Amino acid sequence: MPELRKDPVVGRWVIIATERVRRPTDFPRRVVPARTARCPFCPGHEDETPPEVLAYRDPPDAPDATGWRVRVVPNKFPALRIEGELDRRGEGVYDLMNGIGAHEVVIESPEHSGGLETLPPPAVAEVLRAYRARIADLKRDARLRSVLVFKNHGAEAGATVDHPHSQLIATPVVPLVVADELHQSRAYHDYRERCLFCDIVRQETAERVRIVAESERIVAFAPFAARVPFETWVLPRPHAAAFEQIADDVLSDLATVLGDVLGRMRRTLDDPPYNLVLHSAPFGVGESPSYHWHVEILPKLTGLAGFELGSGFHINPVPPEDAARLLRETASA
Ligand code: ZN
Ligand code: ZN
Repeated sequence: MPELRKDPVVGRWVIIATERVRRPTDFPRRVVPARTARCPFCPGHEDETPPEVLAYRDPPDAPDATGWRVRVVPNKFPALRIEGELDRRGEGVYDLMNGIGAHEVVIESPEHSGGLETLPPPAVAEVLRAYRARIADLKRDARLRSVLVFKNHGAEAGATVDHPHSQLIATPVVPLVVADELHQSRAYHDYRERCLFCDIVRQETAERVRIVAESERIVAFAPFAARVPFETWVLPRPHAAAFEQIADDVLSDLATVLGDVLGRMRRTLDDPPYNLVLHSAPFGVGESPSYHWHVEILPKLTGLAGFELGSGFHINPVPPEDAARLLRETASA
């Protein structure tokens, strides 16, 4: 059983994967893209993954058969496990709990190559529908507090399987990054009685220097203090704290803008490795007036070095205004 341990110095939870004993030789220094002869995510190999928890296919009633467009399965090597009671305890100065949670894989397409950055908007929308459905389902589990949806594209960004997929990890604690955002945005709201994210959207769409793409309900821009070159945030214009409550019209707009932004990155930066995360209100927070769900896309063009890791300061060599202009000027697909 994996274990969650809290660092008492900074309040950060770490997942210690106790069940997979690693030897020093299991950590190669160079990133080698996974080249498996048989892709476990391709159609026809459904028996190589755990039984699916959700799929969109025709006909609809044939679980674990081929014919799916999007398929969600538990991760075969989960960071956290869904079985068992949550056991929070202390050991002297330390806090820990057993690693209860969910770790699922969203297979974005039956096609082995291409993913969110190349799929047509209706196919991207089905992936987003799968996120919405899985978060809504996991929310009913009283042991869980938060779900993080994320995508690692390219070996340098942590992908170990080439086939386009996203992942979802539900945790029994709120991740520190989300907790910090909640805290900051709540403090802003307490003082101004407005949502910080709504105010940012208002300012960015008025100033227009950092806008990357937009539609009626969604806006994408380079954040003012972008951490890495070409970092881009994607937000709904209407205020909304919890992604799982997204309406169909906003979801279809999000699919169009997200596909557009990722396509622009692909063409501008030659298919860069990237990480994508969806930040949504933790389960206890509900329809908060101060939190606002958003997607953060972080291309992996530079590595994190000692200063970044030691200080939390990022040094970004590309001003977000320049990055946004370059992405804007790239022809849309
Ligand atoms: Zn495949
Ligand atoms: Zn808002």
